[in-house]
Formats: sequence, C-alpha cells, structure tokens
Amino acid sequence: MEYYILVEEYLKKLNKMSVPDPMIIGASVSDLCRFLRIAKVTARFYDSLRDEAMGNGRATCVYDTGQECTIAISDRLTTEVNSVAVCEVYIANGDEPWDYNERERIMLVLKTTMTYISRLRLKHVTDILSFYDADGYHNLRYFIGHLEKLDQEDRLTGKVAIHFNLKHFSLVNQQLGREAGTTAMKNYYNTLKNSLDKESVLCRVGGDNFVMICSRTELDRVLNYLAGAASIYDRDTGERVMISACAGVFIIPDGFELNSPGDIMDKVISASQSARIPNNDDVVYFNEVMIANKERIVHIQQLFPAALKNEEFLVYYQPKVNIETGELTGAEALCRWLRKGEIVQPSDFIPILEQGSEICRLDFYMLDHVCRDIRRWLNEGRSIVKVSVNFSRRHMADVDLLKHIVEIIDRNNVPHRYIEVELTETTTDVEFRDLKRVAGGLQHTGIGTAVDDFGIGYSSLKLITEVPWNVLKVDKSFLPIEDDDEMSNRAIMFRHAVSIARELGLECIAEGVETPQQVAVLRESGCSSAQGFLFDKPLPVAEFEAKLSGYKYMIY
Ligand code: C2E
Ligand code: MG
Ligand code: MG
Repeated sequence: MEYYILVEEYLKKLNKMSVPDPMIIGASVSDLCRFLRIAKVTARFYDSLRDEAMGNGRATCVYDTGQECTIAISDRLTTEVNSVAVCEVYIANGDEPWDYNERERIMLVLKTTMTYISRLRLKHVTDILSFYDADGYHNLRYFIGHLEKLDQEDRLTGKVAIHFNLKHFSLVNQQLGREAGTTAMKNYYNTLKNSLDKESVLCRVGGDNFVMICSRTELDRVLNYLAGAASIYDRDTGERVMISACAGVFIIPDGFELNSPGDIMDKVISASQSARIPNNDDVVYFNEVMIANKERIVHIQQLFPAALKNEEFLVYYQPKVNIETGELTGAEALCRWLRKGEIVQPSDFIPILEQGSEICRLDFYMLDHVCRDIRRWLNEGRSIVKVSVNFSRRHMADVDLLKHIVEIIDRNNVPHRYIEVELTETTTDVEFRDLKRVAGGLQHTGIGTAVDDFGIGYSSLKLITEVPWNVLKVDKSFLPIEDDDEMSNRAIMFRHAVSIARELGLECIAEGVETPQQVAVLRESGCSSAQGFLFDKPLPVAEFEAKLSGYKYMIY
C-alpha cells in the first residue's frame, strides 16, 4: 500500500518533470513494471549496518510476475541514522536486456522510491520518539493527535474522554520500592490498553496521571477497572498489588465542536481534580456547573489575602461538654468568614484554601486570634477552658511549624496548656513521619494534640498507636442515627473506638452529638465528653464568653 503511494508520487514527479513517456501517468505499480519490462522487484530493510551484516532485515516483495528471472539491478541506500534499504530489480530469463534508456528509467524509479521509503521509515522512527515518553507510554502529543484525527473524521460522537490519577501511588512506591512500583504501573496501564478497541487511546500525561478516549459502550467496564484492579509488580513471583484511580469523565455530546484539544482536556482535568478532593466520589462527570465552580475557586483565592488582612475571618467557639456533669470542659475554634455582612461557612472556603498554601496562613491567623481571646479572658479574670485549633495537613511538610506555633502562643503570653492542636489523618508514609514529629514536638512543649475525625479516611491502628496524641475525636459518622439499619453496628464500632482510646490512655470525645439517644450510647461506652448541636452550635465569641463562668448544660 505504502509502495503504491510512493509510485503515485513518483508518477506525479515524472509528470512535473515531463521527462519520459506521458502514457504511464495514472498507471499502477504493475502497469509501471510491465512498461519497464521488470519481472520482479524486492526490497529489504535493515535497522542498522550491523543488522545488514548479520542478515537481520525485513523483506518485501513489491512486484512479481512469477516468471523465472535474474537480478539485473541492485541498489543500496544508507540513511542518516545508518538504516539500510536494498532494492533488487529482476529481468525475466531469456528476455532482451534493457537498453541504456530503459536502465536509466528503472534507476530513476528505484532511487525515488527508495528515498521515499527511507524517509517514511525515518518518519516512523521520529514518530516513535515524539509520541512516547521516556518510559514507553504514549504521551500527550499522541493523545492530541488522535483527538484531532477523530474530530476531522467526525468520529468523536459516541466517545468518552477520561482523565485519571492513581490513588496513593507514592504509597505504593514507598511500600514496594520504586522499581516494583514502575512495573505495577506499567502492567496496570498495559492491561487496560490491551483491553481497548482500535479506536481508543490511553496515554500517560506525567507522573501517575493518564488520559484516554474510548467508546461510550466501554465506559462501565473501564470505570470498573479503574475502581480497583490487581497489577503484577514482581514478574518472577507474580505478586500483585491493588491499584485504583480517581477519574474525571466527559461524555462527548453528539455534534460536539472541537475548536482545540483544550476543549476536551480542560473538562476532563477539572472533573478529575474534583474527583481527587477527599470525600468526593472517585468518579466525577464533567458538567457546566464545574466551570462555575472553577471560577468560584479562583475568586475565593483572589479575595483571600485582602480578607485576611482586613480580619474578615472570625473565630467561633463550639463548647465541649462533660455529659455526666453538664460542665463546659473545652471548646473548638472554628472559622467563619464575615463577607459583606454575611457569614460564610468553612465548607465553602476551607477546601478551596486547602488546595494551596493559603490554609496555612488562615490556621496561624486563627491560632493568633484564639490566643488573643484567651489572653483577654485571663486578664479579665475569667475561668478558662482549653481551646483546640484545627491545623490542616498542608502544614505537615513545614519543618518550622512547631516553632511558629510556639512563637504565636508565647507572643500572646498564653500558657501552653490552654491550647490543643487538632490534626487529621495522613495518607502517605512521608506525611505520617511528619505527623509523628509534629505531634511529638507539640506534646513536648506542653501543647495538647488531638486526632480529628477519627474513623473516616485512612485511620489506622498505626496512626493512633505510633503518634503521640492526647485526645481522640471520634467522627460523627460513628454515632448511631435513629431508624438506621446500621444503628447497632455503629454503636459497636463506637464502643470499640472508645475502648481503644482508653487502653492507649487517650481522652476520647464524640463529635456531632445531636440526640439524647446518642448521649446514652456515649455513656454506655464510657465516653464522657461530647461536642455537638445538642449542647451548642459554634458560637460567636461574646456568646461563648458568657458561658465561661460556670454555665451548666442539661444532662440527658
Ligand atoms: P471539624 O474540625 O471536624 O469541626 C467539626 C465540624 O462539625 C464543625 O463544622 C461543626 O460545626 C460541626 N458540628 C458540630 N456539632 C455538630 C453536630 O451536632 N451535627 C453536625 N452535623 N455537625 C456538627 P464547621 O464549623 O462547618 O467546620 C467544618 C470543618 O472545617 C471542620 O471540621 C474543619 O475540618 C474545618 N475548619 C473549620 N475551621 C477551620 C480552621 O480554622 N482551620 C482549618 N484547617 N480547618 C477548619
Ligand atoms: Mg476539628
Ligand atoms: Mg472533626
């Protein structure tokens, strides 16, 4: 087929040069060979001079009349990258030898076709170099090329684009070693790739991020694979590791107009980013709402520095209560944004600030404002309770975190025992090591440490046994809800969490306590501290202050 194209090119060239007989224009390879009285043409290709010497090449028979024949002309061409093409032209035995003109014409055809063949092969090599990354994965350029081709041929209809990121792959690397991690990733990719049809492509776009396009009918199967598949990481033993991914999906609508590849890339990437946010679904489908969200995110990130400077963020205090005595035992500082006279809840801005490092500035601001309040209460002679402040995971890599926290507390002249730092679980071993270091350092300076939201995410026994904590805050999802089939299961889990905390000598507090029935479960489990709407919502500072002097909550 390629050869036909080459010969056509040659014919065009002949036409342009208007050299030989115009009657051959429009002829096929066989017409051309017949016209030139050729019995057979073969071509052989070698990737290197060494392959040529060893006879390791690929041969193609270009034309063959089947007659008995002998080689009459042989030509050899070496390219810039030392690949070799050899072409042989045969004349039928007993046929009249070619005259000078005929030989010249045949040579011209040969030279032209060989140059074209070599150029095509060279293109093939450069394609390989430019469409694969250093680890042998198809790359983004390949994906975009494929996308454009599908678009030109009107074949985007019925397709879906997917961007996915492997979950906790750094953890896989740490646990298995880099080499085994690389093998596992390659096998995960190859298995998926080999299961796709010819119209589909799967490419790696850096690190553990992939992008693919496939037919809509394959979507369920692909998502099933991405939800978790065992991948071999040791070829000798066949040992496998589970790999899963979070994915952004864009179902390409019928009649979709692709103005640039970014029209699809932007959509799958923003859906995939959303899928990576903790607590979101692992698969997020792109919709127009996401574009609006993206604008909102940028807007909040832009507003943040000035809002912080103008002190628009307020500290609300949610009381912690002893369920046996009704006494106020502590409080959690929770942030509220007073924007244009309205209160904005943390769920509307904290996850956005957590995407960057802005959250760290907010946490230091909150700690500073809590310390100012405590200092004032101390100066006013009020009785004080310990206040816990949330610190995002984003701080974990900060080697000066401890120094910074202590500096803020000391600057406000607040005794360390009045402050507790709430930290959440981590996902990677590196973070885990940092968490241990930070929690240990805090305790060393007399600042309390609490593990927040225990029970959701990645809590493990290792987390609570190896990191020095003072307090275990059991997440509200562990509390039984009325009319819930899982009510008794939850109560059992809650009881276990409390007994583990006790055995480890940790204080235990239940978050999100809303009903007297839940208080009963706390009491049965031996957990005497609660925080929740049943007692109080997070309160503005003035309302909270009023409860500092011996306020008693109702006992349920
Ligand atoms: P969190 O640290 O787990 O805080 C507890 C959340 O549970 C608070 O939500 C609180 O209002 C809510 N809550 C308390 N009692 C109940 C209840 O009885 N029922 C229910 N359904 N919810 C209850 P809030 O104030 O909206 O804060 C949400 C999250 O935002 C916090 O969860 C924390 O992760 C984050 N956050 C808030 N302020 C800060 C901050 O200053 N820094 C950081 N890094 N994160 C913060
Ligand atoms: Mg908290
Ligand atoms: Mg919590």
